[in-house]
Amino acid sequence: MEKHIAVIRGDGIGPEIVEQTLRVLDRIGRKYGHTFTYTDVAMGGCAIDQYGDPLPQSQLDACLAADSVLLGAVGGPKWEGLPGDKRPEKGLLRLRSAMGLYANSRPARLWPQLADASPLKQSIVDKGIDFIVVRELIGGVYFGQHTTRTVDGEVRAEDTMPYSEGEIRRIGRIGFETARKRRKKLCCVDKANVLDTSRLWRRVLEELAKDYPDVAFSEMFVDNAAMQIVRDPSQFDVIVTENMFGDILSDEASMITGSIGMIPSSSLGEGSRGLYEPIHGSAPDIAGQDKANPIGTILSAAMMLRYSFSLEEEAKAIENAVNAALNAGVRTADLAAPGAASVGCRAMGDAVIVRL
Ligand code: NAD
Repeated sequence: MEKHIAVIRGDGIGPEIVEQTLRVLDRIGRKYGHTFTYTDVAMGGCAIDQYGDPLPQSQLDACLAADSVLLGAVGGPKWEGLPGDKRPEKGLLRLRSAMGLYANSRPARLWPQLADASPLKQSIVDKGIDFIVVRELIGGVYFGQHTTRTVDGEVRAEDTMPYSEGEIRRIGRIGFETARKRRKKLCCVDKANVLDTSRLWRRVLEELAKDYPDVAFSEMFVDNAAMQIVRDPSQFDVIVTENMFGDILSDEASMITGSIGMIPSSSLGEGSRGLYEPIHGSAPDIAGQDKANPIGTILSAAMMLRYSFSLEEEAKAIENAVNAALNAGVRTADLAAPGAASVGCRAMGDAVIVRL
């Protein structure tokens, strides 16, 4: 297989973690007979420095021409004072919207070797944590109308939360398809006791469920889901939910696994092209010091192989190699117990690659 990947190294630790991930992809290519080619794309602070724009059209076009996009992270204190549309994050929002990425998936998985890092009680952690939050990414209240005006001498602000059946159906399908590839359980999280949009979500999801008789479908109010995620996360396999609920729940879900440097994500739209990135930011406090944990990015590449290129065996090989490196006790500083030895970003890359 030949695949062309747009690579956004970005800012802060971005270039370091992406470098290790490309080494892992090259190793997979050699082992399984695939060719991965890369185009470097400037986005974020480095693009502002180079072009005065966080994602110039030429760079966006390079992403749209690729089979998929791999991103490190963007942003940092240097660009924080800039006006909203000139900030590094604007490049990311523009990229998501131009690629039509409406489905964001974040796995919340506790690696047993890192169980001590979870803030949950041992008795809860022992039951295992392994679920995915599938979040609608380009609709709902974040993309509705926002108005602030003065009415009768008092300032009023209003945000609308629009959703159409079509927008719900397409993300719903991704939820069911994801569940099908896992333990075949899908939970729709909403606030159907209060919101019309949630009642529409339920109706569309219940209709879709008839097409997926092999997937056990359930529904839960978002306030209850927030509690259940800390009370008994083992009950979840795939959660599908709207944009703002997904934003909040996916952060809660990543927190209970204990380690921000380990968590990958995928964003998909129509077709197989996706955007793959770790959930953390550019960590300017440790940038350029060979201290970053590259595993979140390496696992994002595994998701790219699985979801965009249908290379399940290769994706599993990467996950198994990460698991084996952790089993061997290899830890970057963010994973190591206080006072214990740790390795740098490149050495963690080496530890994964030798186990492939
Ligand atoms: P952050 O995720 O960059 O860092 C939070 C803490 O986690 C820091 O102490 C950092 O050192 C640590 N950390 C994060 N990733 C790590 C890794 N791979 N290995 C080891 N330690 C790691 O969040 P922040 O400090 O709030 O944001 C820093 C910058 O990143 C800001 O400019 C922010 O806007 C940007 N940001 C970008 C993205 C993105 O590119 N998608 C996402 C979030 C934040």
